[in-house]
Parts: sequence; C-alpha cells; structure tokens
Amino acid sequence: MRLLLVEDDDMIAESVLGAMRRAGYAIDWAEDGRAAELSLDNGVYDLVLLDLGLPKKDGIDVLNAYRRNGGPAPVIILTARDAVDERIRGLDAGADDYLIKPFDLDELAARIRALLRRRTGQKQPVYSHGELTLDPAAHEVTKDGVPLPLVPREFALLQALIEEPTRVFTKAELEEKLYGWGEEVGSNTIEVHVHSLRRKIGADQIVTVRGVGYRLKRCG
Ligand code: CA
Repeated sequence: MRLLLVEDDDMIAESVLGAMRRAGYAIDWAEDGRAAELSLDNGVYDLVLLDLGLPKKDGIDVLNAYRRNGGPAPVIILTARDAVDERIRGLDAGADDYLIKPFDLDELAARIRALLRRRTGQKQPVYSHGELTLDPAAHEVTKDGVPLPLVPREFALLQALIEEPTRVFTKAELEEKLYGWGEEVGSNTIEVHVHSLRRKIGADQIVTVRGVGYRLKRCG
C-alpha cells in the first residue's frame, strides 16, 4: 500500500510517517500544495492524507483539481477542530473522510484500513483467498488457520495481491505499492520478496504470468 501524506507541520508529519511505516505502508510526504499536486500527477497512491491549510496552494484546491482529473484514491482530510466549514467543503470536494487535529494515530490507521477495504469492495475486515487469510488490523496472515510469520514487505506484497486476487501485477506496480521515494529498490527486489513469500505461504499460491508479472492462484 502506497500512501501520500500532504502536511506542512513537521511534527505531525514525522509522527504520521513513523506510524504508517511501522504499520507496513510505503508513504511519501509532500510539504505544500504544489508538491502535493506534483506527487499526485506522478504517483500511484492507494490513499491520500491531506491537510487543508497548506503553503503555496490550499488543500481544497489540490483536492478539487485531483478529483477533476479523475484522481481515484480515497482522501482523508486533516483539519482543525473549529473548522466545520472547511470539513464540509472538503467532503463536498471529494474527500472520503476527515480527522480532527490532534488525532490519535491508531484511529488514523483504522480509518485508513476501512477506506482501503471500501475501495476494493471488501466488507469483511479480514481478507480470505483459498486457504489464506490476511488481517490488516492484526497484521496477521494464516494458512489453514495456522499463523505465518511474514516480514512487513512480504505482508505488504500479499496484501496487494489479495486485495485484487484476479489481477496480474507487474513488477513496477508492486514496487510502487511497496516502496516510497528515496527507498533503494534493486532490479530483482520484487522477485526476492516473491521468492521468500512463496517459501512461507506455498509456492503454488503465487502464479508467475510470463512476461507480465504475478497474481494469486485461482481458487473457488
Ligand atoms: Ca497546515
């Protein structure tokens, strides 16, 4: 999962970035409205956290432009307690949810999970596919009910695949989901993660589609 945080307050940004990385998300940080627009133009994000009071370009304008251009990612706006009008304008401009500052990081994480579920049409909090289950909140994967010890990148890789179990992902798409800006990604990084994930969940669970990429095995 690749997130974008748009926030000009360093302290808030540092705490959100730290918490989201620990939760296994790749997350990029844009510090003003212009940087946010550039990031949204270039990046493929699964979800956006958007402060509204921003230097250079207002958050509402960023959101309006993003939605006008067909930007599909769910957006959570981050606003001040007394800014009711701002929240209403944000929701009307295409935001999906909001959080009032100061917010609790665990609540933010739960809202992110809820929106990511809704985006893929998933009602249940736990994904299942054949013998596998993946619980984003507990950060747990099981096979036939037995918990499997996955490292965060393996977990993120499986989560990407299980959210869209019939889709074939290219290596580039998986890299985008797993890594933020400035993170070193070797040319065979995704193969390495797929290899180690297959060792843990069973080699047959992930199918290589020659010349294209990877998907989960068909089931049901
Ligand atoms: Ca601000």
